[in-house]
Amino acid sequence: LSVVAVPPARAAAVLPYQDPSLPVATRVADLLSRMSLDDKVGQMTQAERGVISAADVTSYRVGSVLSGGGSAPSNNTPAGWADMYDDYQRGALATPLQIPMLYGIDAVHGNNNVPGSTIFPHNIGLGATRDPALVERIGKATAEEVTGAGQDWTFAPCLCVARNDRWGRTYESYGEKPELATAMTTLVDGLQDNGVLATAKHYIGDGGTTGGVDQGNTQISEAELRSVHLPPFTAAIERGVGSVMLSFSSFNGAKLHGHKYLITDLLKGELGFTGFVVSDWAAIDQLDGQRGFTQAEVVTAINAGLDMAMVPVDWKIFVGYLKAAVQAGQIPMTRIDDANRRILTKKFELGLFEKPYADRSLAATIGSAEHRALARQAVRQSQVLLKQGILPLAKTGGKIFVAGKSADDLGNQSGGWTLSWQGASGNTVAGTSILAGIRSAVGSGTTITYNRDGTGIDSTYRAAIAVVGETPYAEGAGDRVGSMSLDATDLATLSRLRAAGVPVIVVLVSGRPLDVAAEVGNWNALVAAWLPGTEGGGVADVLFGDYAPTGKLPVTWMQSVSQQPINDGDGKAALYPYGYGLTYAAAPVDTTAPSVPGGLTAGGVTASGLTLSWAGSTDTGGSGLAGYDVYRDGVLIGSPASASYAVSGLSAATRYEFSVGARDSAGNRSARSAVLAVTTGSGSGSGGSCRVRYTTNDWSTGFTGTVALTNTGTAAI
Ligand code: BGC
Repeated sequence: LSVVAVPPARAAAVLPYQDPSLPVATRVADLLSRMSLDDKVGQMTQAERGVISAADVTSYRVGSVLSGGGSAPSNNTPAGWADMYDDYQRGALATPLQIPMLYGIDAVHGNNNVPGSTIFPHNIGLGATRDPALVERIGKATAEEVTGAGQDWTFAPCLCVARNDRWGRTYESYGEKPELATAMTTLVDGLQDNGVLATAKHYIGDGGTTGGVDQGNTQISEAELRSVHLPPFTAAIERGVGSVMLSFSSFNGAKLHGHKYLITDLLKGELGFTGFVVSDWAAIDQLDGQRGFTQAEVVTAINAGLDMAMVPVDWKIFVGYLKAAVQAGQIPMTRIDDANRRILTKKFELGLFEKPYADRSLAATIGSAEHRALARQAVRQSQVLLKQGILPLAKTGGKIFVAGKSADDLGNQSGGWTLSWQGASGNTVAGTSILAGIRSAVGSGTTITYNRDGTGIDSTYRAAIAVVGETPYAEGAGDRVGSMSLDATDLATLSRLRAAGVPVIVVLVSGRPLDVAAEVGNWNALVAAWLPGTEGGGVADVLFGDYAPTGKLPVTWMQSVSQQPINDGDGKAALYPYGYGLTYAAAPVDTTAPSVPGGLTAGGVTASGLTLSWAGSTDTGGSGLAGYDVYRDGVLIGSPASASYAVSGLSAATRYEFSVGARDSAGNRSARSAVLAVTTGSGSGSGGSCRVRYTTNDWSTGFTGTVALTNTGTAAI
């Protein structure tokens, strides 16, 4: 006799909806045909972690759980989050049809709920980068960190077009123009291509309310609604965004959550959105403008096209109302089936039926060096240089004073939606503060003194850097109805610095433009850093010229708070217009050969580094030679005091272009310098294998000798 293997019981009993080889639509139709009204009502319900238990998920067949505002498991670690997810998922899989749940979180600038995560700049800073590819990479990194903590759905991106800086959610916006948010819908691809469901929110017009009031009323024509607030949603839908969250706000007095025309006719009909529509937090209860949650509100919202209710005040009452409304014929079963079809389709597409539990293999990506490097790059690119003055600062010599409540405060630098809903001041998250970035940017010969409120500064410092601005807030708590000036703490710090008579560089950490026109004349330089996140140290890359700023204003910067709302094209005179952003003078490029022939000093070249040296320059501007600026590929990499500079971190067989300019003690730079280009030879030792050019067309090899820079004049900066 031979022993025949008995197939596992489940294999024999696979139902069509459990068969991954079938098309999703077939599986959804099969599953739907097996579902009771209780099953269907449960799928449309989303309850809050902690309020609902895993056993409740089973008994009420609840389709989704969330951590609103980041509410965390008791073991608040990536593993704790994954355990919590698995616990709820076990509850979902214990239902008769074993339908997995979705877990929603606000991972809106990285996986910001989970300690140890990489916190990226808030959207306003990303808008300043004008770099959709960067945003897509951030989406991928965020998806990895979200998956690593076991989650599968994030309420991002916020595609609001912020039209009034008084609004407390301005920083969640990519900027005041629809094209910015439209371009940055690449975040949807970054998230969804890496297994995390995205949410386009808040549909629609949340950034257009009168007075910039959160959850207010957007009183505009439908034509303006379509031209200003709709394009980002259209783009997100084209990218296949899986869910859309409704806005708390109203359109011409009518709450979005009951707006059948905007949800069913426009979003699902005209735009062809096939994903599901989720409500905002307890928003159904606001529908009738009365306190008290009613069945009528549920009927209005679901019939308008809402598919899933987020925290419907009391989820058990919602379940009861929804079921009763269907049984009473107030909501047609076709509407319930449509909602379920949409939700289940996303669950199948995410692969939850096959892999319902947390994927812990990605936990190592949380806060990884690679993700932090990406965040730092985003920080660099998001800086907007509004006033250049003495920037970039030389890295060598003298003393620099750093002050301001946000210089060494990663909580302030990260803003709201960081570990908690409102965020908090203090070093709540791990990362590199702006102060830490400054400390590591300078050479050993430069002293950095830090005092939060500016006490102790005197005239012996060559500059003061003040890092000031807003402290964390979220949503309506951040609405500013009156003044939008710096607070008294910041103003006191700044006046201490100013009293010392040294140049003052202001780095503004804020979620929006502030009313600074009256002070800016006292500042020698101004950088808008937005809310840079855990890698705020990247601000120093701009301050010291390791990165020549490329950020452009994503919003119009007011001359005075009385101008709010102020937007590009409205005829109001801005302090800094939309799109404004300075950069450092490009590396001086000379298309003619220097008057004294020469080249790089041979002997300095190694596989990964070389030493540039050159002859000294005279300063024809008259204030005396103070040092040099060395550029690599147009980016300032160092400011040595003497005529030589060691460059490291080069990779073999890559072409680099170096140039050197002289700087006088007034901060003027030589307008001309030689252009040096080198391709490191593969494994080359000293001498020989570098190629040197000192005009754009004239290549030579194996130079010895030096380039004599000819300083033919000075350029004021
Ligand atoms: C916010 C949403 C957020 C939700 C869940 C609401 O208060 O308006 O943007 O996704 O809470 O935390």
